[in-house]
Amino acid sequence: MKNQKVGIMGGTFDPIHYGHLVTAEAARTHFHLDKVIFTPTGTPPHKKGYRVTPAEDRYLMTILAVNDNPFFDVSRMEIERTGYSYTVDTLELFYNEYGQDSKLYFISGADAVFDILTWKDVDRVLSYCTFIAATRPGYPVDKLNQKLSQIKKLYGKEVYPMEVTGLDISSTDIRMRIKEGLSVKYLLPESVEIYINKNGLYR
Ligand code: ATP
Ligand code: MG
Repeated sequence: MKNQKVGIMGGTFDPIHYGHLVTAEAARTHFHLDKVIFTPTGTPPHKKGYRVTPAEDRYLMTILAVNDNPFFDVSRMEIERTGYSYTVDTLELFYNEYGQDSKLYFISGADAVFDILTWKDVDRVLSYCTFIAATRPGYPVDKLNQKLSQIKKLYGKEVYPMEVTGLDISSTDIRMRIKEGLSVKYLLPESVEIYINKNGLYR
């Protein structure tokens, strides 16, 4: 299909939760996207302070989570690449696949945008797609706007802020809760919770 508007939602999704889903849906409706492609990371380039769950489990949980939304898809692009996966490489692949006829949007939370200036090839990252920065509890709007004008000054590229219904949910908190035997009901889709329990993740 030509002239599509395609959103890309990157993340570790370890596990995926309603904060991710509400953000992707807000971007879809606000920017009139034809679809949003969730793209779980392979081996994270920024070493996380914990052992990341195997990509195949994170991929399957993402599939389960988006199953009831006809506009959401999941890509294996990052998990099938070996070695570090940088956002810039992923965006280049998406750009080659869709870019000529379509417009790409990269959807991220405010905290991820705060890291943007430390990313590899930020110039190229910003040339492949339009960046959407969603508000996230704990990352105040004024701080976000300040960062966005800094990006604009440095790279001459507009990053669009987007207000999202604040859900103070993080995968880190969910992993901790499961480890401690606390309830995670209503923080993530039930299908994902069932997968976690069945496979003994995060214990
Ligand atoms: P972790 O605690 O392991 O870092 P996380 O909850 O931050 O997990 P990620 O997979 O790191 O989830 O995030 C993927 C993307 O989703 C990032 O751009 C992040 O900013 C965004 N995001 C995650 N949670 C929320 C939320 N509650 N509201 C808005 N954006 C979110
Ligand atoms: Mg995170």
